Amino acid sequence: MTFLFNNYARRAVHLVKGQGTIVTDDKGKDYLDFTSGIAVVSLGHAHPAIVKALQQQGEKLWHISNLFESPEQEKLAESLVKDTDLAYALFCNSGAEANEAAIKLARKHTGKHHILTFKQSFHGRTFGAMAATGQEKIQQGFGPMLQSFEALPFNDIEALKNAANENVAAIMLEVIQAEGGVNSIDPAFAQAVMDICEQHGILLIIDEVQTGIGRTGTRYAYEQTVLKPDIVSLAKGLGGGFPIGALLAGKELFETFGPGSHGTTFGGNPLAVAVAQAVIDHVFEPAFLQDVQNKSAYLKAQLQAALPAEKYSIRGNGLLVGIHSDEEISPFIQQAEQQGLLVVPAGTNVIRLLPPLTVSTDEIDQAVALLKNILS
Ligand code: PLP
Repeated sequence: MTFLFNNYARRAVHLVKGQGTIVTDDKGKDYLDFTSGIAVVSLGHAHPAIVKALQQQGEKLWHISNLFESPEQEKLAESLVKDTDLAYALFCNSGAEANEAAIKLARKHTGKHHILTFKQSFHGRTFGAMAATGQEKIQQGFGPMLQSFEALPFNDIEALKNAANENVAAIMLEVIQAEGGVNSIDPAFAQAVMDICEQHGILLIIDEVQTGIGRTGTRYAYEQTVLKPDIVSLAKGLGGGFPIGALLAGKELFETFGPGSHGTTFGGNPLAVAVAQAVIDHVFEPAFLQDVQNKSAYLKAQLQAALPAEKYSIRGNGLLVGIHSDEEISPFIQQAEQQGLLVVPAGTNVIRLLPPLTVSTDEIDQAVALLKNILS
């Protein structure tokens, strides 16, 4: 590890293979992977359909850049916006990049630069996305942030009313703040966001990088709310493990991004698009999404039954579930790992469960039994 920067607090586990929900380390020890590579391997590890898509594309064509037309990108874009109020997509390589595109699109379209974001949000580590992120610890040491962003308390209708006016280009939010602690948007706040956007002509950007692509039991998390985004950012689960991000937007924004306004060499690369299409073909099936909802209800009920209610509360939707505690949870995360269960924190006192969307009820039972053992 001596040739690598020290910018990640890496765990001392060397994972060498994965199948479904199970990952195996170099010593042959198996773990239940309830991280999914931070909400990425939506169909589990080495799903045959996406392995096949990658192999087939790998033998045909790897990369052409966006100098040339791409019916494959067209098809993926159509799959992503079909039956939504969104109309167009462009592809990039990560969540932060999708948010950069969203910020640029909103600024160019409105000719304004002020964007309201929320405390405890997370939008990525590039300069614009970092400035949009409502967490000082993420911004520390990098000098003055871009002045365009104003982070308001989440779910605070009064604060939003006071900050909104005709000079605001966009409101940018996560339906469930995932990194920030698995905090869901209040229905009343969601309604206020819609009213305020309409009243002042403000665009709504929804960051679905973590919540999108079936993670919360619907294609996009906003579908479970009254929110109607103008712009949506995606990444993580879209590629099922292959890096890809996307920006979706309503048809009124089409003219704003003409040739030369935005781009990336790798965005929508044939390998990434082939894999993402295979992911979408599975995940957007209504029966698949219903199954995610069923497993979510099961997981939450099992956790509630297993853990003392006075110490832990269970939050989140779909297979993005947070176990909120009053205590520091990092020792529990280490114990879980020793006992063969991989989970991630969200902030300092939330254990975040992000199993593959293909997790079985048997695997949920095993994970809950381990958590019960560790937490009680
Ligand atoms: N937005 C949200 C909601 C995220 O959870 C993340 C990553 O955790 C990002 C953006 C940044 O995505 P990436 O790490 O792919 O740049």
